[in-house]
Amino acid sequence: MTFADPLEIDLAGYDSVVVSPGVPLNRHPIAEHARNAGVSVIGDIELFALARPSLPPHKVVGITGTNGKSTTTALIHHILETAGVPSLMGGNIGLPILGRDPLPGGGVYVLELSSYQIDLTFSLDCDVAVLTNITPDHLDRYEGFAGYAASKERLFAMQSAGSVAVIATDDDQTKRIASFLRHSREGGNPYSQGLEVMDSRLRGNDGVVAVLSTDITGQSRWPALQGPHNAQNAACAIATCKALGLTDDQIEQGLATYPGLPHRMERIAEKDGVLYVNDSKATNATATAPALAAYPKIHWILGGVPKTDDLDDCAPFYDHVVAGYTIGQAGPMFADILRTAGKLVTESGTLEQAIADAAAAAKPGEVVMLSPACASFDQFSDYEARGEAFRTLVGTL
Ligand code: ADP
Repeated sequence: MTFADPLEIDLAGYDSVVVSPGVPLNRHPIAEHARNAGVSVIGDIELFALARPSLPPHKVVGITGTNGKSTTTALIHHILETAGVPSLMGGNIGLPILGRDPLPGGGVYVLELSSYQIDLTFSLDCDVAVLTNITPDHLDRYEGFAGYAASKERLFAMQSAGSVAVIATDDDQTKRIASFLRHSREGGNPYSQGLEVMDSRLRGNDGVVAVLSTDITGQSRWPALQGPHNAQNAACAIATCKALGLTDDQIEQGLATYPGLPHRMERIAEKDGVLYVNDSKATNATATAPALAAYPKIHWILGGVPKTDDLDDCAPFYDHVVAGYTIGQAGPMFADILRTAGKLVTESGTLEQAIADAAAAAKPGEVVMLSPACASFDQFSDYEARGEAFRTLVGTL
C-alpha cells in the first residue's frame, strides 16, 4: 500500500476520489483538482450504494434533516428490530456501514445522512427517504440557506419510481420540497406550483407522505420520546415503518420500548420522586429549547462555552423553569439573562455543585436537567464526557 497526497497525484485514470464528509468541498482544493481531471468526489455512502447489487435483497432507509436525524434513525432501527426485521444503523451514526457484515435477505439498512454525506453521494436510491426539518445550519459550507436546503433535497432526486419520500412539513422549506416533489412525481410541471408553500396535507399515492408533528397521538405512552421535537421524529418513524409494511401494533411496540440515545434528553434516574435528565448533546440554545418544552417543572443546569450571547430560543419555555443553575464560562452571562427574566438563579460554577444545588431544591414530580445550551470545552473534553460526568454524579446522590 502506498500513501500519497491526492493533491499531488495526476488523477487521470482513477474512477473517483473518496473523501471524508469532514472535508469542506466548497473550500478544499481537492474539489477543483478532481474536477480538472474529470474524476468524481465521493464518500463511503456512495461506495455502499455501488455495492448494493452484490448484497442479498434488502431495503435502504435514508434519513436527513437539520435536527433529529440520530433520534429518527435509532428509532426506526429499534422498531424494525423489535418487529424481528434484520436491521443495521449506519452513516452518521454508529460504525461505518462498510465495516459491517451484510444483512441477510429481507434486511433494512437505516442510514443517517448529514448534508455533507449527501453531497458525496450520487446513486443511493433509498426505498424510503426521510426529511425531518430544515433550519439554518452549516451556512459556512453552503451558498446560503437555499444551497443547504438543495443539498438535502438531492436525497429525493436520487430515488427511483415506486419509492417513498417521508417529509415532516412543519417548516417552510420542507413544505416547499414536499409540494415540489408531489407535483414532479405526479408528472405535472414541478415548476408550475412547486415553489409556493402549500398548507394542505399532502398524502398522495405519488410516494410522497407528508407528516406533521401534530398528527401524533399516544406520545404519553412513549417515555423516551417526550417533547414536540420528538413528536416530529416519531411521526417520521411511523410513516417510514408503515411504508416498509409493518403493522400498527408492531410500530406501537417499538415506540413504547425505544430506550432513547445517550445524552439526548436521556432519563438517568428517579430519586425521591425527582427525575434526572441528561441532555448534554444540546450544545446551543436551539437544541435546548425542545428539552425545556418537554417537562413542566425544570431545575435547569446550563452553561459552558456559549455559541451566542443570548438564550432567545429558550425564552418561550421559561415558564417551565423553576430555577436555573449556571456553570462554566457562560455562567455569569446566563445568570443575568435569567434573572432579568424573573427567574431564580444559583451560580453554581461547576456541574458537581449544580447537581447538589438542584437536588437540594427539587421537589417530587420535578425534573433536574442538564441541557447546557453550550459547548463543553471549558470544563470537559466533549459533550459525551460532560454527560457521563452528570450520570456519575447523579449516581452518587
Ligand atoms: P441530529 O442527529 O440531527 O443532530 P439528534 O437526534 O441527535 O439530532 O438530536 C440532537 C438534539 O436536537 C436533541 O438533543 C434535541 O434537543 C434536538 N432535536 C432532536 N430532534 C429534533 C427535531 N425533530 N427538531 C428540533 N430539534 C430536535
